[in-house]
Amino acid sequence: MPEHFDVIIIGTGAGGGTLLNRIVPSGKRILVLERGPFLPREKDNWSYHGSFKYYSSETMYNKAGGEIHPGFCYYVGGNTKVYGAALFRLREKDFEKFRHKDGYSPEWPLKYRDFESYYDEAEVLYQVHGKAGEDPTDPPRKKEYPFPPISHEPRIKEVFEILKARGMKPYPAPMGVRLNEAMMHLSPCIRCDTCDGYPCMVHAKSDADVSAVRPVMQEPNITLVTEAKVLRLHTSASGREVTGVVADVKGEQIMFTGDIVVVSCGAVNSSALLLRSGNDKHPNGLANNSSGLVGRNLMKHVLGSLVGVSTLKANPSKFQKTMAINDFYWGEPGYEFPMGNIQLMGKTVIEGLRGYEDKYAPLSIEEVARNSIDWWLTTEDLPDPNNHVRVEGDQRIVIDYIENNSEPFDRLVERWKGILKEIGCGCHIVPQANYFAPKSGYFTTKMPMHSLGHQVGTCKFGEDPKTSVLDLNCRAYDVDNLYVVDGSFFVSSGAVNPTLTIIANALRVGDHILNRLGTSRCEDADGPVSYSPSVQLKSIQAQPEPVLAQ
Ligand SMILES: Cc1cc2nc3c(=O)[nH]c(=O)nc-3n(C[C@H](O)[C@H](O)[C@H](O)COP(=O)(O)OP(=O)(O)OC[C@H]3O[C@@H](n4cnc5c(N)ncnc54)[C@H](O)[C@@H]3O)c2cc1C
Ligand code: SF4
Repeated sequence: MPEHFDVIIIGTGAGGGTLLNRIVPSGKRILVLERGPFLPREKDNWSYHGSFKYYSSETMYNKAGGEIHPGFCYYVGGNTKVYGAALFRLREKDFEKFRHKDGYSPEWPLKYRDFESYYDEAEVLYQVHGKAGEDPTDPPRKKEYPFPPISHEPRIKEVFEILKARGMKPYPAPMGVRLNEAMMHLSPCIRCDTCDGYPCMVHAKSDADVSAVRPVMQEPNITLVTEAKVLRLHTSASGREVTGVVADVKGEQIMFTGDIVVVSCGAVNSSALLLRSGNDKHPNGLANNSSGLVGRNLMKHVLGSLVGVSTLKANPSKFQKTMAINDFYWGEPGYEFPMGNIQLMGKTVIEGLRGYEDKYAPLSIEEVARNSIDWWLTTEDLPDPNNHVRVEGDQRIVIDYIENNSEPFDRLVERWKGILKEIGCGCHIVPQANYFAPKSGYFTTKMPMHSLGHQVGTCKFGEDPKTSVLDLNCRAYDVDNLYVVDGSFFVSSGAVNPTLTIIANALRVGDHILNRLGTSRCEDADGPVSYSPSVQLKSIQAQPEPVLAQ
């Protein structure tokens, strides 16, 4: 009979991993169940084709029955193992009701000021580099970033200065990489070109594994079980408490029990787990009686990449992800609707272009790889209850999602193309080859439906059980000891990458759980706590290799 735990956390990504880090100092017995193993350190970490294997090959389905391959990363650290580590705060107005082209982005029940101190702590824990005050849309902050901004490589610096000279406001992208530019011989990060979308071979990326799980996993009150996929949650006869967590642990089904159960599987898998865990007291899925919203309001951003190529200048940058632009975040004169965020993404590498020579003609793929500057564009998608995750049978996950707010995205793409053309970073592709003078082009790729990297919103939090799945502490309204701590709680998606908000919220909910466990150290149960457990500051390098529970 397995041991009974005080807390069970399911999943070790940005939400679950951070929550674990926060509540470890309580000394309470904590079980962590993670579907994947530790991601191996090997040469494939940094190889274009080799790195594909870290993305799951599982199949989900769209409404019409077509296959979706979301490519989630199921390892300790979850999707943060391969993420791009751009760690933005939501803007202050993202927490307010705001008119968009296709409707209103709803108001959050908590505001930026409720998250601010947790954002501060999140930036320390995940070692974020940045510079305050450069971006006019930046939310107010009492503290500077804990680490200085990452320097631009020469070609990027040139573009940064040109944009500034045009009166624009480019600013240093807030990045979670452990780079020490002052003493590169001591820097864990070597500033390479295989970061965005790849795991970090030298553990220098601030992912949830490296930043949150490993620093605490030697603590005696933690039991971490990897390759433990949770299949279902059982409740008491009343349906008010989760009484059992059933996991497939390396082929064997085991039931675990705990006083508090936290689901942190990511917005799609957390809602799927709840829906799959329905019973006679929860006929439409666990925690779904009051609102019927479990799985609904899935958001994932309207996303696209844009590769600007000019043969005028090469871009030999290795780590170019150092600039972001929010000049169009809230719209622009003549267009009052928010358009979104522009940021640099990982540099295009030649291996990713092979086989697509026709698409890039008349440019050679060598020219594209050598000269491209690569941009990532994000527009907020609005929550729509019809955009939802559902389960059919025990396994099949169906994603019904119809994109909204496409017009501001398209406008953002066109505006950015125009500006890049004007500043000599490329020009439009048109069918006539003689248009290219000098030979240059653009290639835009709108992320397809199955691109779920920015999944949020399937168990929104709020003050009314009829219109939200979770209360303000991310506890399920319908189940007393059940929490959801990952991207699921989002009310709206904003137009910046979601992870820093997931991390900040996990710290916030962690404080609530500490209170509930009777181990809080804060005076005001609702206010932010003031101490930082020293255990959080342990260096990953100082840790011995992990010992796993069998
Ligand atoms: C290629 C890529 C680049 C990205 N770049 C950025 C970026 O630059 N900035 C940014 O802010 N965001 C980025 N993101 C998004 C970021 O990765 C997510 O926002 C973040 O990881 C979500 O955190 P989470 O806790 O909600 O879920 P996850 O991090 O996905 O964690 C979920 C965890 O639950 C585990 N799990 C799932 N199901 C089960 C189960 N049934 N039983 C047990 N365990 C389970 C998973 O293995 C995983 O460990 C990127 C994503 C991708 C894919
Ligand atoms: S740039 Fe730094 S953090 Fe990113 S993969 Fe390379 S070494 Fe790791």
